[in-house]
Amino acid sequence: MKTMTCKQLGGSCDKEFHANTFEEMAEMNKKHGMEMFQKNDEPHLKAMNEMQELMKSPNEMKEWFENKKREFNNLQENK
Ligand SMILES: [Zn+2]
Repeated sequence: MKTMTCKQLGGSCDKEFHANTFEEMAEMNKKHGMEMFQKNDEPHLKAMNEMQELMKSPNEMKEWFENKKREFNNLQENK
């Protein structure tokens, strides 16, 4: 298991996600983002807008994803 925070994944709070794979991590972050979106949480909405800007460019998005995946792979396993 590894731990990443919402912030590390392009969000805006310190909520921690624990997962074995980056795909799992991304999925948890996505769900959390949706929840925050439904609550109209201002900082998350702002972070989401920025992500959407990024998504307009598939290359940048891919790069972002690869970078985060690398970050995840370099993390220490939870003790
Ligand atoms: Zn968050």
